Amino acid sequence: MIRKVFRAGFAAGVIGLGALSLTQAAELRAIQLSSGAQGAQLTLELSAGATHKLFTLEHPDRVVLDLAHTHLAGGVRAPAPSGVVSELRFGSQPGGTLRVVVQLTSALAARSGWAAAGEGGQLLLTLGAAPAAAVDAAPRAVRAVHAPGEGDRNVVIAVDAGHGGQDPGAIGHGGTREKDVTLAIARALAQRINAEPGMRAVLTRDRDEFLELHDRIARAHAARADMFVSVHADSISDRSITGASVYVLSVHGASSEAARWLAERENASDLSAGARPDDQDALEPVLIDAAQSEIIGVSASAAERVVSALEGVGELRKAQVQRAGFVVLKSRTIPSMLIETAYISNPTEERRLKSTREQARLADAIAGGVRSYFMQNPPDGTRFKQERRTLASAGGAATATP
Ligand SMILES: [Zn+2]
Repeated sequence: MIRKVFRAGFAAGVIGLGALSLTQAAELRAIQLSSGAQGAQLTLELSAGATHKLFTLEHPDRVVLDLAHTHLAGGVRAPAPSGVVSELRFGSQPGGTLRVVVQLTSALAARSGWAAAGEGGQLLLTLGAAPAAAVDAAPRAVRAVHAPGEGDRNVVIAVDAGHGGQDPGAIGHGGTREKDVTLAIARALAQRINAEPGMRAVLTRDRDEFLELHDRIARAHAARADMFVSVHADSISDRSITGASVYVLSVHGASSEAARWLAERENASDLSAGARPDDQDALEPVLIDAAQSEIIGVSASAAERVVSALEGVGELRKAQVQRAGFVVLKSRTIPSMLIETAYISNPTEERRLKSTREQARLADAIAGGVRSYFMQNPPDGTRFKQERRTLASAGGAATATP
C-alpha cells in the first residue's frame, strides 16, 4: 500500500508524524548508512526523542526527514552515498528543525521508527527493502494521506541508461561516449513518460555511475516496474552502417550472428569495468523456462510497438524485433527490451546522438511505442486499465443507442 504513494506521481506526499517529547532539544550525534541494490537503512543516533516528519519529493526522488528542535553535534558528517542512495545531506531549517535529505536512484517506499521504546536513541529510516544487515526495528506505521484509490496506479517504466562510470560503452570516431548519450536519451525518455498521464518513469541511473547489469534489474524490481527499457547505441567497424534495432531476450539462441556478438559485447560491461567475475552472470548461459518464455513474449509484443514508432523517426537497422542473450534483459517478472538507438560508429548518427533535438525525437518515439503497448495491454490496477474499462462501457452504451 505504501508504495502506491511513490508510484502515484505526486510532487510531494506528507506521510506521517512520530510524536515524542517536544520539550527537550535533541542532538544528532551520528548517522550511519547501510545501502544495497534494493533498499537502504539510515540509523540516526539522537541524544533525545525528536518529533519527526517524513515526506517525499520527486525529480529527483528524495526522502526528507525533518527533526524538530534538533541540532547537529560537532564533527558529524553525512555518510558517503552508496547503493540506492545517490546523495545524502543535512541542514538547519528555520525554527530549529534539522532536515535530512536522502536522494535516491529511484523512488522507494520510506518508513521511520525508533529502534526501541523510550526517550531518544536510534531513529531508523528504512527505504525500500532494507539490506539484510539492517537493525530489526518495530517501525512506526506510515500512512499515505493522499493514497490514490484502488485501481488507478501508474504504469511504471524502468528506464536504463546503458553503461556508465568506468564503462564508457562504445566510443564514436568523434570521441562521443555511449554512456553519455544513453544517459541523455534516458533522461529525455523519462521526461516524456512522466508527462504522460497514467505513466511514471524511474531511471536506473541518473548520473555517470557504474552499475552492474544485475543491479540495473534489481533497481527495476525495487521500483516495481511494469517494464524495463535499456537504452544503448551500437557500434561496428563498417562506418557506413546506420539505424536502430530493438532486442528482447532470446528463447533459442540469437536471431543472428551479429545479435549474438552484440549481446556478448554488452554483457562484457561488468567485466570491462572490473567487476569480480564470480559476482556476475554475464558468462552464464541464459536459462529459459515457461514463465520466462511468457515474459519474453510480452517483451516482444511491446518491442514491436517500439520498432514501429522508431520507424517513424528514422532509419531502422532491423525492421523486426531481434533476439539475443542479453544479461540485462534476464528479469523473470518484468518484460524487458534493449534499444540500440543508432550507430555511434557512423559519423552522421554520432552527431545525431549528441543532438538534444534528435535525443528528444528518439525519446518521443520510444515513449509512444511503450504507451501504445500499455494502452492495448493495461496491467491490472492501473489507470490505463480503468480508462479502458470506461471506454469499453461508453462504447457499449453508444452502440445500444438507436
Ligand atoms: Zn551498449
